[in-house]
Amino acid sequence: MAAQLIDGKVLSQSVRDQIAKDAAALLAASGVKPGLAAILVGDDPASHLYVKNKHKACEAVGIHVADHKLPASTSQADLLALIDKVNRDPQIHGILVQLPLPKHIDSSAILTAVLPEKDADGFHPYNIGRLVEGNPIFEACTPRGVIKMIESTGVGIAGKRAVVVGRSNIVGKPVALMLLHRHATVTICHSRTVDLPAVCREAEILVVAIGKARFVTADMVREGAVVVDVGVNRTEDGKFVGDVDFEPVSKKAGWISPVPGGVGPMTIAMLLQNTLESAQRMVARAGTGAH
Ligand code: NDP
Repeated sequence: MAAQLIDGKVLSQSVRDQIAKDAAALLAASGVKPGLAAILVGDDPASHLYVKNKHKACEAVGIHVADHKLPASTSQADLLALIDKVNRDPQIHGILVQLPLPKHIDSSAILTAVLPEKDADGFHPYNIGRLVEGNPIFEACTPRGVIKMIESTGVGIAGKRAVVVGRSNIVGKPVALMLLHRHATVTICHSRTVDLPAVCREAEILVVAIGKARFVTADMVREGAVVVDVGVNRTEDGKFVGDVDFEPVSKKAGWISPVPGGVGPMTIAMLLQNTLESAQRMVARAGTGAH
């Protein structure tokens, strides 16, 4: 039987519709419009496209965007000064620093300079620590989107065998922690995993984030599994494909997300959600007199 599609476009649209309503309600009740600072350093065309898409998506739901496009030659000190400025700006509730940064800039120092309360990407060590504790403020956008996609299937996470392939700080590790906090039994795989196909076949929930085109084949997938494909790979003929061999795997899985149209749109929706929630928290704190 063919797998059901986890349609990231449809799901992200329903999330965005709700965000638009909540942003309008916040504005009406408090006069506060959620604001995102989008910081982009250099000329990488893919990064420019990502920021443009995020900008459009924000404006469509009533989130104000302050774009900061800086030349590749920007010094680390100047970038830190800009982050300090947006950290202090009361109209900004979320800060996005588009990665990768030019090589002469220490990305870790930059991400750590972002105020944790405005860290809409969820990459600050404080927010990662809160996630490890199971008490997050901001959850990183892509992992949060992956969880929403799994939840949308109605297949409960608690008690399931979940396998995450990939252990990066921005996808694999946070996805695994989020699944763990939702009571899955989680295995994290990586390039040194022995007999990866056998481990993957145990998965009732399989999340793949490695960056290798069509790497996960049907023989690696358990009958009826929920398969979420985070990978984005460009083929020689210019097409985008995931890390999962979609056609054959979709004949075996119970649910599968496509690439494109899967995790990508959900990542953007979660950035909007994080920015909105940050604005809501700041308004609530101002209302209680807390700082
Ligand atoms: P990284 O390159 O940081 O990490 C890749 C991970 O995959 C590593 O842990 C690596 O293992 C593991 N890996 C690589 N090869 C194998 C293999 N043959 N078998 C098992 N594990 C392997 O990638 P990211 O996590 O940043 O991104 C992963 C993919 O997701 C990319 O295609 C990226 O473009 C995409 N992505 C998509 C997003 C979206 O919004 N749709 C957002 C973010 C990422 P090891 O640690 O041992 O090296």
